[in-house]
Amino acid sequence: MRVADLDLRELLAFEPKGGVMTFGGQRVLLFDAVALGLLRKELIETLGIFAARGILTRLGYAHGWRTAESLRSAFPWESEQEWQRAGAQLQMLQGLQIVEHPERIWTDGRVWHESYEAEQHLLALGQAEGPVCWTLTGFASGYLSFAYGRKVYCVEDRCRGKGDAFCHVLGRFREEWGPEIEPHLLFYKTERVDAALKNVTIALRSAEKRLRARTKELANLVGNTEVVSGLVARSPAMKRTLDLARRVAKVESTVLVTGESGSGKERIARLIHDESARAHKAFVAVNCGAVAETLLESELFGHSKGAFTGADKDRPGLFEAAAYGTLFLDEVGEIPLNMQVKLLRVLQEKEVRRVGENRSRPVDVRVIAATNRSLADEVAAGHFREDLYYRLRVIELRVPPLRERVEDILPLARVFLSDAAGRMRQKVVGFTSRVADRLMGQEWRGNVRELQNAVEHAVALCQTSRVDVDDLPEELRTAPPKAAVTGQIRALEDIEREYILSAVDASGGNKTRAAASLKIGLATLHRKLKQYERK
Ligand code: ZN
Repeated sequence: MRVADLDLRELLAFEPKGGVMTFGGQRVLLFDAVALGLLRKELIETLGIFAARGILTRLGYAHGWRTAESLRSAFPWESEQEWQRAGAQLQMLQGLQIVEHPERIWTDGRVWHESYEAEQHLLALGQAEGPVCWTLTGFASGYLSFAYGRKVYCVEDRCRGKGDAFCHVLGRFREEWGPEIEPHLLFYKTERVDAALKNVTIALRSAEKRLRARTKELANLVGNTEVVSGLVARSPAMKRTLDLARRVAKVESTVLVTGESGSGKERIARLIHDESARAHKAFVAVNCGAVAETLLESELFGHSKGAFTGADKDRPGLFEAAAYGTLFLDEVGEIPLNMQVKLLRVLQEKEVRRVGENRSRPVDVRVIAATNRSLADEVAAGHFREDLYYRLRVIELRVPPLRERVEDILPLARVFLSDAAGRMRQKVVGFTSRVADRLMGQEWRGNVRELQNAVEHAVALCQTSRVDVDDLPEELRTAPPKAAVTGQIRALEDIEREYILSAVDASGGNKTRAAASLKIGLATLHRKLKQYERK
C-alpha cells in the first residue's frame, strides 16, 4: 500500500444509523470546528496563552503519535517511507488542512493551506502575533516521532493566523536543531516546572505592577491607612507587624510567621520578599500540610529519574526553583518528624540532595516558614523538633487576628469590594451603614480570608450601587451582633431593632416562629415591626 492509495471512502466506516464511526479502524468523532475554536478561546482566557498553547500542542502530539501507531498495523505498507509519509495525507483526509510538498518537511518546509486551526483562531480571537497551528504542529511532531522512532520537532514559522498567505512548517530531529528550538520544547513538556515558574514570575511582576498602581488609587479611598501588597494597616497592631516585616526584609534571617488561619501570613511573607534584595528572583510558596507525606521530600528537594515508581525524569525541587529567591513553607508544623531532620540539614548546610541522588547541590534560598499552631506547644508535645524550631524562629512575626484589628475591617472590606467590583464588572461602590455595622461587629474566626469571601459574595449578589444586608452571606445576615462594644456605643433601641429584624430574616419571614424564638408575644412583634416601618 502507498500513500496515494489512501482513500477516504475506504478509511471511513460508519453505522448507517449512527453510534460508532471509525477511521482506519480507530473510533473517531465528527466534531464542530467552531466548538473547538471556542474551547481554544476558553483555554487561552482561563489559563493564559502559554499554558493553552502547551495543552493544545500536547493534544496534537498525542493525536499524531496514536495515528502513526494505528496506521502502521492497519495496512500492509509497501515500504517504511510510505507509512512515514502517510501522516500528512491523513491530516488532509481528516479535513484538518491541505498539505503541499509533504516531503519538503525536512528541507525547505511543508506548506499548509486552509488550516482549520488558523481559521478558528482568527474567528474566535482575531489575528495573532505568532503562529497558531499548535495542534497541527504537535500532530506532525508526534506522528514523525513515532514513525522514525526518534524525537522529531516541527516548528511553524509562517501562519495564516498571523496574517501570512499560508502556513509553513519545518521538521528536524531533536539533535539537528540548534538552540532556537529550546523555547518550542517547553510546549511539549508536561512537567514544565521551570517554564511554569518563569511564567508565574512574569505574571506576578505584572500583577505587582498593577497592584502598585491600585495602591496609589486606594490610598485616597481609605484615608490614613497603609495599603501594600494586599495588606491594609490602620490599626496599631497591624502597623507594628508591617513595620517589623520591613525591617526583617533587610536582613537575611529565617523568619517564622505565626497567626490564625486566614490572617494573611503569606501576604506578609510576600511583603518581606518584595522588600528584600531578593525581590527580582522567585517567590515560591508551598503548603506543607497539603502535600502528601510521601511526596513532600521530592517536592521540596527534587528527585532523579528512576528514584521511585513514576519518577520518569530528573526533576528539581522547590528549593532549587526558589534559587536566590524566597521559599515560603506554609503550615510548617505539619511536616512529619523524619522530614524535619532533612529540612534542618538543608537549612544548616545550604545544600539539597535530590531523592535518589548521592551528591548535594548548593542552594541559596531564604526560607520563611509559617504556622497557625503554637510550635512551642508542638515541641513540648514531641511533635516538632526543638532544633528546627529554633532554626526557623530566628525572628518571629505575629500577624494579629482580624478581631484584634477592628479598625482595619472597613478599609479591608473596601479594598476587597473595589477589587471584586472591578473583576465582576459590577457598579458597586460601597456598603450601606447597616452592612458596615454588621461587618464591624463580626467575630471573623476565618479572619481576612473570611471577610474577603463575604465581600465577594455580596458584590456578586448586589443589584444596586451599595451592598446591603440582604447581599451578605447567610451566616452574616442572621448572625446576632457580637456583644462586645467596638467603637462608638449605640442606642439600645437601635440594637433591638436590628436584632428583631435579623430574627425575622433568620426565621425565613415567619413571624410566629420569630416571636417564639425571641420569647415575646406575636402581637408585640407585630407592633414593633409596625414602628420600624414608620421610621
Ligand atoms: Zn498556521
